[in-house]
Amino acid sequence: TLSFSSSSRSLLPFSIPTFSVRAMASHIVGYPRMGPKRELKFALESFWDGKSSAEELQKVAADLRSSIWKYMADVGIKFIPSNSFSYYDQILDATAMLGAVPARYGWNGGEIGFDIYFSMARGNASVPAMEMTKWFDTNYHYIVPELGPDVNFSYASHKAVDEYKEARSLGIDTVPVIIGPVSYLLLSKPAKGVEKSFPLLSLLDRILPVYKEVIGELKAAGASWIQFDEPKLVMDLQDHELQAFSQAYSELEASLSGLNVLVETYFADLTSEAYKTLTSLKGVSGFGFDLVRGTKTLDLIKGGYPSGKYLFAGVVDGRNIWANDLASSFSLLQDLEGIVGKDKVVVSTSCSLLHTAVDLANEPKFDKDLKSWLAFAAQKVIEVNALAKAFVGQRDEAFFSNNALAHSSRKSSPRVTNEAVQKAAAALKGSDHRRATNVSARLDAQQKKLNLPSLPTTTIGSFPQTMDLRRVRREYKAKKISEDDYVKAIKEEISKVVKLQEEFDIDVLVHGEPERNDMVEYFGEQLSGFAFTANGWVQSYGSRCVKPPIIYGDVSRPKAMTVFWSSMAQSMTQRPMKGMLTGPVTILNWSFVRNDQPRHETCYQIALAIKDEVEDLERAGINVIQIDEAALREGLPLRKSEHAFYLDWAVHSFRITNCGVKDTTQIHTHMCYSNFNDIIHSIIDMDADVITIENSRSDEKLLSVFREGVKYGAGIGPGVYDIHSPRIPSTEEIADRIKKMLAVLESHILWVNPDCGLKTRKYTEVKPALSNMVAAAKLLRAEL
Ligand code: GLN
Ligand code: ZN
Repeated sequence: TLSFSSSSRSLLPFSIPTFSVRAMASHIVGYPRMGPKRELKFALESFWDGKSSAEELQKVAADLRSSIWKYMADVGIKFIPSNSFSYYDQILDATAMLGAVPARYGWNGGEIGFDIYFSMARGNASVPAMEMTKWFDTNYHYIVPELGPDVNFSYASHKAVDEYKEARSLGIDTVPVIIGPVSYLLLSKPAKGVEKSFPLLSLLDRILPVYKEVIGELKAAGASWIQFDEPKLVMDLQDHELQAFSQAYSELEASLSGLNVLVETYFADLTSEAYKTLTSLKGVSGFGFDLVRGTKTLDLIKGGYPSGKYLFAGVVDGRNIWANDLASSFSLLQDLEGIVGKDKVVVSTSCSLLHTAVDLANEPKFDKDLKSWLAFAAQKVIEVNALAKAFVGQRDEAFFSNNALAHSSRKSSPRVTNEAVQKAAAALKGSDHRRATNVSARLDAQQKKLNLPSLPTTTIGSFPQTMDLRRVRREYKAKKISEDDYVKAIKEEISKVVKLQEEFDIDVLVHGEPERNDMVEYFGEQLSGFAFTANGWVQSYGSRCVKPPIIYGDVSRPKAMTVFWSSMAQSMTQRPMKGMLTGPVTILNWSFVRNDQPRHETCYQIALAIKDEVEDLERAGINVIQIDEAALREGLPLRKSEHAFYLDWAVHSFRITNCGVKDTTQIHTHMCYSNFNDIIHSIIDMDADVITIENSRSDEKLLSVFREGVKYGAGIGPGVYDIHSPRIPSTEEIADRIKKMLAVLESHILWVNPDCGLKTRKYTEVKPALSNMVAAAKLLRAEL
């Protein structure tokens, strides 16, 4: 009475369920932790607010982990990562594992719990958080380990082993992922009080014993593979740093025996020295490469690959949201197979999927076409699996042919290609775009028109965004209030902000940006070629996520974007009102960018759209226009060899936006992050009339450039107080800082302004701070 399908592998029905078809050789480097609807974010924030218990948070986390593991197992992935989950950050997890808790958190040994862990991440009532910094060239931020000769390393968080066991109890054998020992040290900094020159790598001997303990426990728990992420290998490293890798893995070799070890790299290719070091590591069974960003990796592999070692081929892009080109990945994998042998190639993602959106299934508003062009993390898992299966002769023909169709539809779609834009952008190449008159003559012409006092005061753009304001925007978007009511509400807000600035006697005003919810999204929504997700969140740090727009087509500006609000604001005052725009490089760097043309071509297209806006503002009588390039510095490529090319097109794009304005129109730009010293010449080359820079946390650093003799003739406003903190700076304190600046910069080029926009602050903080700022400027003007 039992019937079997022709594909049944056994005549004994009771043996069937235990045997599932398993594709060979597929691997995922890491997976987003937040959950498809940001479940972890809400659980974390509720726990931090004291609204839910630790157990409730742990339950949400465990559910997320198990659903992710089960999903990958169901899809058919062979090497499923564990310990790629984190309550805050994977580097902080390693710091906890190593017991490297800075003394100020008062940890007394024992297993590190939420208390100490979240104090390190976020600070507590009495102690500030550890420093956070950008994770390579992504928008993710990690918690920087603070190390020195006095740290007592000890095995203090069993998270990696616990998660391995947890997955195992669900019937899923996983690959535990841990940051490799050398990258860990290279990602850390000398603790406070430790000399800046302290050799962090000298701690290798002291952290390896903890790694050995972890390895031992994982083996005992039944692990057969372990993944060490060593992304630092893609950077420009010195010989002694490369040697540390060889030394570390030689030292670990004995404890790793009996275990398969993957050393994973990502975000770029390796130098040939780094490649040699990596592929000769002792005790390692396989190496992972980013074959999307690592453009030279294939050549390195062709040049020689150690026999008998696995190659984890990262062909599915973990940094973007595009559907993989399966046909071309398949042929690349075939090439690799030819070099390293058939059973030695493992299909993988280019890096952790942490850096892409979670699941396309949660984008109901996308049309079928657009959807077919995209793949978020959940879809990328399926792509990896499909490639792996095709590799072992189980090609899903329908999946491959749909993918090919989607690619040709994307290529030929009129939504993607706009001939006129392509032509205009192509015409820019090779040419230079500069304002005709030099900056000092321009500043003179502008001063005649603007008639500003010395040490002019201004702000960076946004004013506090109140709950009311957010509600008005939300309701307008949801069509719950009429356009008229919306305009009225925003107009009232602008007028409030204008009056306030006049009261404080600020010289160059802003309208406060009340109509914007995000400085990139606001422009993306009005430009063609952009799409917006409903749930395409990517973790930025801790519980914070960003939702980058998707640039899928040629960019153009159907109509003016800011002129209405800016001229309304200008009409409310006699003082100059700054027009406020986001620059092309920042729009590019904070979006998911199309992968079917070089980044710089997309950037030039955005530059042309912003140029139109600049010229419209000028025509509408706006004499000061600020073009924010908050993210120009952070887009700097990882490898020095690529810096010059990036800076060249990035700075060129900026100049394109404003090369056509009159001498009397004053172009400002603003940059976040204080680390510019390495790109100061590019900043000068942007040729803005005035630049305002985030500076409050490192006066000395920025000013030292000028002290060392860099000639800077344009206006410059290094932020005089930190807007990231609720602290209200006193007049004296601000005056002191201006004095320090005056010691280095000539008084006629110095501007006085906060560090960045005031959007995240409260009026109770902004009012006294700005009033003190103007008072300080006046104090020093009197002394000039
Ligand atoms: N004009 C923007 C603002 O003030 C700049 C923000 C930024 O630099 N991140 O909000
Ligand atoms: Zn800023």
